[in-house]
Amino acid sequence: MTKTVIVGAGGVGNVVAHKCAQDAETFGEIWLVSRTLEKCEAIAADIRNSTGVEVKTAVIDADDVAATATFLKELKPKLLLNIALPYQDLTLMDACLEAGVHYLDTANYEPPENPHFEYKWQWDYQDRFKEAGLTALLGSGFDPGVTNVYCAYALKHLFDEIETVDIIDANAGDHGLPFATNFNPEINIREITANGRYWEEGEWKEIPALSVKQDFSFPDPDIGTRSIYLLYHEELESLAQNLPDLKRIRFWMTFSENYITHLKVLENVGMTSIEPIEIDGKEIIPLQFLQKVLPDPASLGPLTKGKTCIGCLITGRLKETGETGTRFIYNICDHQTCYEEVKSQAISYTAGVPAMIGARQLMSGAWLRPGVWNLEQLDPDSFMDDLNAWGLPWHVLEANQSLEP
Ligand code: NDP
Repeated sequence: MTKTVIVGAGGVGNVVAHKCAQDAETFGEIWLVSRTLEKCEAIAADIRNSTGVEVKTAVIDADDVAATATFLKELKPKLLLNIALPYQDLTLMDACLEAGVHYLDTANYEPPENPHFEYKWQWDYQDRFKEAGLTALLGSGFDPGVTNVYCAYALKHLFDEIETVDIIDANAGDHGLPFATNFNPEINIREITANGRYWEEGEWKEIPALSVKQDFSFPDPDIGTRSIYLLYHEELESLAQNLPDLKRIRFWMTFSENYITHLKVLENVGMTSIEPIEIDGKEIIPLQFLQKVLPDPASLGPLTKGKTCIGCLITGRLKETGETGTRFIYNICDHQTCYEEVKSQAISYTAGVPAMIGARQLMSGAWLRPGVWNLEQLDPDSFMDDLNAWGLPWHVLEANQSLEP
């Protein structure tokens, strides 16, 4: 019998488990395994109520390669979806290699002791996955993930040549709380407090964190015009390599003034630091302490109202006219609609649905290709069809605005 293992029972793991259960024909026996059994069981109970599908649960420590490999060898799943944290990417890739299981994740590896992420560590597994005849799909969330597939689609169907890509991520949702992050607070704050970086004419350019912003008018009136801030984001690394003729690629995210003010204060008082400090003989890391006192992102679901818009603003030579033009490929998601479907806000939903869709491409065999791949390296068509079918419909707009250089 086909079996699928999902590791991680947080906000995104909840969505992945729900969506896989909606397609139990593809995923067969679904296992939700994580560090805390109660969280797996709560999600499984919810899925039983909403779909009637029985999701099996177990405890694993994904940092323990030997124990995870033993678990996988006994169970013999076809695919493991890593929806734990980026810290577990390499150990889970090792366990999959040892047990002969295909691998998928949504975020690239980051060493816990150093807030720096890059694909090198995972790309180094290329030969081992090839030799084992296994596929590793890297970054199958929304960004990275869908944004990479949007670029592949644009190159296949819309443009003969892509010159610039601006990935724009807006969360116009409001949870009514003074401050909360929409996904794992530690990972989120590490990402946002890092220096901004973009790629232009073959070179990486660095700017101080959150120092470059401009306004962008989103295609949905409920979102309207918002300030977007230039950040570094991991898909820039692979897209800069894999899109031929590219001259510049950047990533932008919206933040409210309130969010930025809270973040600056937390940073100024040292709460976002990952340097250990000692309190009464006990060592703690300020950012990990902060994570414990901030709202659990999984708890924001019932509170959050409003919409998200994530898309790629792409300029290049259009297939249709041979002239230079700009297109915005994007999705709009409504926090409350997501909550009604899977008891989760749109940030976890937009990350979790593409993980399930990437997994569908592996289960069907369409994307099974031994080695380690980013999503733009694979044919976008069936993934784009699945986005429409499984809850993240996309649109292409003839954009009449471009961003400042
Ligand atoms: P959460 O912190 O809510 O959930 C993480 C889960 O992983 C928890 O259930 C946690 O267990 C479990 N876990 C952590 N360490 C281990 C371990 N050693 N062994 C077993 N289980 C472990 O995170 P999110 O759901 O918000 O995010 C999950 C992933 O999704 C992250 O990698 C994040 O970067 C990524 N993401 C990707 C996006 C994209 O668009 N590509 C967007 C948003 C998120 P416990 O419950 O005990 O804490």
